[in-house]
Amino acid sequence: MAANSVRIAVLPGDGIGTEVTEATLEVLEPLARRHGIGLSTETLPAGAFHYQATGEAFPESSFRAAEAADAILLGAMGWPGIRQADGTEIAPQLDLRFRLGLYAGVRPVRAIPGVPVALADPRAQRIDFVLVRESTEGLFHSRGIGLVTEDLAEETLRITRATTEKLSRFSFRLAERRAARLGRAGRVTLVDKANVFRAFAFMRAVFDGVAAEFPAVESGHHYVDAMALDLVRRPWAFDVLPTENMFGDILSDLAAGLVGGMGFSPSADIGDEHAVFQPAHGTAPDIAGQGIANPAAMLLSAAMMLDWLASRGAGQGFADAGAELEGAVDAAFAAGLRTADIGGGDGTAAVVRAVTERLGR
Ligand code: ATP
Repeated sequence: MAANSVRIAVLPGDGIGTEVTEATLEVLEPLARRHGIGLSTETLPAGAFHYQATGEAFPESSFRAAEAADAILLGAMGWPGIRQADGTEIAPQLDLRFRLGLYAGVRPVRAIPGVPVALADPRAQRIDFVLVRESTEGLFHSRGIGLVTEDLAEETLRITRATTEKLSRFSFRLAERRAARLGRAGRVTLVDKANVFRAFAFMRAVFDGVAAEFPAVESGHHYVDAMALDLVRRPWAFDVLPTENMFGDILSDLAAGLVGGMGFSPSADIGDEHAVFQPAHGTAPDIAGQGIANPAAMLLSAAMMLDWLASRGAGQGFADAGAELEGAVDAAFAAGLRTADIGGGDGTAAVVRAVTERLGR
């Protein structure tokens, strides 16, 4: 990547995916100008409606262009009633995770000032943790290759040493960066089911081996069932939570529900060379086309993208722009912006206006 100038592959997808993507690009343009950073974007076709029109959910040309870009920004894909021949959903985002080796599914969960949290305890305002969902193996290893006969169905979970080591190192490094930013010690807690499955005892042993490389970061383990309880009972107590793919899939939705719902939940799928940034929500067919989708999750995902690009050498301007974008989203909601998903009347365009106005303040 050339310093100070990057190429972004944009995959808007379906439903509100296209709406929040358009909103995000509208905010990124003045943001990039303000910080003097070069962001060139290329919009690529993929998704359920593209499948319906062409028979192809994710054209190889779109995949190649995404692979060649410095970062990938994705809206959301899939649509009820549009399915592959075997009945599974249209999910090019899963293809990207597997084909580009995006093992770290980063799901920040943070109480945004002004956005109602699900818990009455005042400590819920301090919720700020990151789930790191392993995204290339675990139970999803079996996707598309499970055994189904007349009498049984069987799907196999896979945990590898190589990916567990990478996931663990990624989590400890993330905890170090958060500790430096937040001015407190970092803590990484592996979420597993090591009391029942040998695969998770193996995962735990590999994680512990990596933990020893990071003596300044506290490390621990939590069983997934206990974590489901504790994410409701004391979510403010956690920092970085790496976990298996399926566990992360479920816990990340629970976690999103703590802090305002899917409309406020950004995510990044990060590998050694590539990364996809997208809101955690789906295409929300029930509200698509009405101009009321909340673009905050995608704006926050774009902020993560700018920060990741900076960490890859794009330049300090990218890190500054990412921080400013996150700050502007926070400030807009703190000042009273209320989207439909939290019971307000502000639509997608109102969020774009409110956030853009706050850039640089
Ligand atoms: P998927 O299976 O792809 O995750 P889904 O239909 O199960 O998708 P979502 O599309 O994520 O779930 O959303 C569930 C509901 O939450 C939507 O139907 C919509 O009402 C609401 N929702 C999700 N994202 C947003 C958003 N950005 N703004 C407003 N409402 C949203």
